[in-house]
Amino acid sequence: MHQFTIAELVTGLRNKDFSSTEVTQHYLDRIARLDNTYNSYITVTADIALQQAAAADKRLAAGNAPALCGVPIAHKDIFCTTGVRTSCASKMLDKFIAPYNATIVENYLNSGTVMLGKTNMDEFAMGSSNETSWYGPVKNPWAIDCVPGGSSGGSAAAVAAHLAPAATASDTGGSIRQPAALCGLTGIKPTYGRVSRWGMIAFASSLDQAGILSRTAEDAAILLNDMASYDAKDSTCVERDVPDYTADLHKSLKGLRIGVPKEYFGEGLNPQTAKLVEDAIKVYESLGATIHSVSLPHTHLAVPAYYVIAPAECSANLSRFDGVRYGHRCENPKDLNDLYMRSRSEGFGAEVKRRILVGAYALSAGYYDAYYSKAQKVRRLIKQDFIDAFASVDVILGPTSPSPAFQFGSKTKDPVAMYLEDIYTIATNLAGLPGLSIPCGLVDSKPVGLQLIGNFFAEGQLLNAAHQFQQATHFHQQSAPGIE
Ligand code: GLN
Repeated sequence: MHQFTIAELVTGLRNKDFSSTEVTQHYLDRIARLDNTYNSYITVTADIALQQAAAADKRLAAGNAPALCGVPIAHKDIFCTTGVRTSCASKMLDKFIAPYNATIVENYLNSGTVMLGKTNMDEFAMGSSNETSWYGPVKNPWAIDCVPGGSSGGSAAAVAAHLAPAATASDTGGSIRQPAALCGLTGIKPTYGRVSRWGMIAFASSLDQAGILSRTAEDAAILLNDMASYDAKDSTCVERDVPDYTADLHKSLKGLRIGVPKEYFGEGLNPQTAKLVEDAIKVYESLGATIHSVSLPHTHLAVPAYYVIAPAECSANLSRFDGVRYGHRCENPKDLNDLYMRSRSEGFGAEVKRRILVGAYALSAGYYDAYYSKAQKVRRLIKQDFIDAFASVDVILGPTSPSPAFQFGSKTKDPVAMYLEDIYTIATNLAGLPGLSIPCGLVDSKPVGLQLIGNFFAEGQLLNAAHQFQQATHFHQQSAPGIE
């Protein structure tokens, strides 16, 4: 049963080939048996899952159940879930029980999905390797000595090890697409504002966006239908109808104009990764797309601009963790200052502290103009690059990450090497555009991701391009060795 895609589960549940309770129990058994190897879940919500499955079975029996009714999924532990620990993989929130559901969790609850549990991640979504989690690193099912990517590494490993058919995730600078690439999955980050951020613990609010990790583009389309909604509780959520993202999956790609940015094929890109991306371009040509060279001249400024803007926003967002209202509180504080200092020193890990320090520095009176304000101007230039490119192409194609999964510890001592993992993904967040990653082959038996970037709100077109690629290739059907 764990080999079924979301689309197959939807059909099987409707045809009564199996019940939601059976599928859910099957996944819970697999998690209990296998997840001590991967550490992909922080919390498994077995009781809730079985209750939700029983309720879904009743709805299915009564008829008129929504499409996803009875389908089990996992939620990244960045999304608030009523009555369930929502830790953001931080000691700071280890004992935090959310009093409400994130809007996307609520949306999935309304459509009858079953929550298997909360997945592991980098602490407060800061990282590219899942090594900063308070609950320990997540292992990549393709290579147990390698990272699954981050920050949504738990969601990715859970789906790749078939411990969930799909999972929610979030992407501030690449945290859905890079783990999708490193774990051989499909991962989509929608346009900024397409999906509500309400109840998603904030890292960098102008960049954060929820999305999906799944096995296929078709599954991502089915899931996005229910994840996307207008939400008055998130003032950056765009009031715009949600189309049926499955409607255009089968459209021909004849005449689709694909732009290939020359800046995405320079120094730092693994040559074998580059070769697989070039092979993918040929597949698109054979599907009728036309290929055009484009330029995104400010690409080299994306990582530096991001590492001013994201820490600045994180230093402001994380100021709420003061040991007073919620989160970790130190023992026996001497006075208020001691309470703040020790609660935060004890509650946050090293990478989170580094970001808060960098951010507070960039926002301080003497440096605001030199760093923060400058980075915002660079951000505008990066966005303009994309606007100019989309004047002549429909989709932009390139690698998702510079190389396949790397070994644990190999980049932890050099933050800049780690930050460069997101060199191809970060600009998309700075511009607010949608992007996805799909598998396009293996290098050294490890998956490689192909990135497709779309114009604002062109998720349907992106998913169509990804689905057509998956109809023509088999890369997305490959499972990690030993995962049957
Ligand atoms: N790896 C990037 C960072 O560390 C992006 C993280 C994310 O998208 N949440 O900030």
